[in-house]
Amino acid sequence: MSAMVVAVDVNKYFGPFHALQNVSLEIKHGEVLCIIGPSGSGKSTLLRCINQLERIDAGAIWIDDELVGFRQDGNKLYELTDAQIARQRLASGMVFQRFNLFAHMTVLENIIEGPVIVQKRAKASVIPEAMALLERVGLADKKDAYPSELSGGQQQRIAIARALAMQPKLMLFDEPTSALDPELVSEVLSVMRDLATSGMTMIVVTHELGFAREVAHRVVFMDHGRIVETGTPHDILSSPKQKRTQDFIAAVL
Ligand code: ADP
Ligand code: MG
Repeated sequence: MSAMVVAVDVNKYFGPFHALQNVSLEIKHGEVLCIIGPSGSGKSTLLRCINQLERIDAGAIWIDDELVGFRQDGNKLYELTDAQIARQRLASGMVFQRFNLFAHMTVLENIIEGPVIVQKRAKASVIPEAMALLERVGLADKKDAYPSELSGGQQQRIAIARALAMQPKLMLFDEPTSALDPELVSEVLSVMRDLATSGMTMIVVTHELGFAREVAHRVVFMDHGRIVETGTPHDILSSPKQKRTQDFIAAVL
């Protein structure tokens, strides 16, 4: 497996606050990486830097061998334009805690919006793909419903389908089940599990340690803007070496 995402010594500041401190990470093609850690440890910031919703202050990130945010010419680096960044951003699909569906559009319209408007693809070829994605998340019968008519779990499954419709190289999930009522969590995790099985490269920020144990190839524990410990699910969740990881796991379980 070659690397899909490489982050080297990534640093991010918000004013004087050092939100990411020399974060280095490699995610291989088809790998599922779960990121765990306390609130405020920099998990969302790391995802947002990978997706260029935030700019990094030092270090470098590559997605599928392409330098993120910069163009390299000899040994000079040039910042990409907003349009070039927008194009690069399409490499990763992002799913947030809040589903952010377009309220005034039906489920099907939500899913085809990006491919048709942003990617300028023909509606006739996008609609069958959208329907296949709806089948995949178990919601084909809801294609004409509006988001307000759906449960939180259904909305999040649509949000996943909408991200997949852009044919991303990797998927980023930021606590996708944290805003859901407990009984709706498993239907979303089940869609994510299927996606992992299909070979999608995934970075998942989650407090669902059961999901991490079962689905992740590797788990990263972050605290105070740093990666404290990385390992297999068993390494991190069952026999963590660092005291901070031990304390976190004990508090979450
Ligand atoms: P996590 O996702 O692990 O809970 P975040 O990445 O959201 O943590 O945030 C890490 C730290 O950076 C927090 O202390 C947060 O308050 C701070 N932070 C995040 N975004 C901003 C921002 N836009 N401006 C200022 N501080 C921020
Ligand atoms: Mg967060």
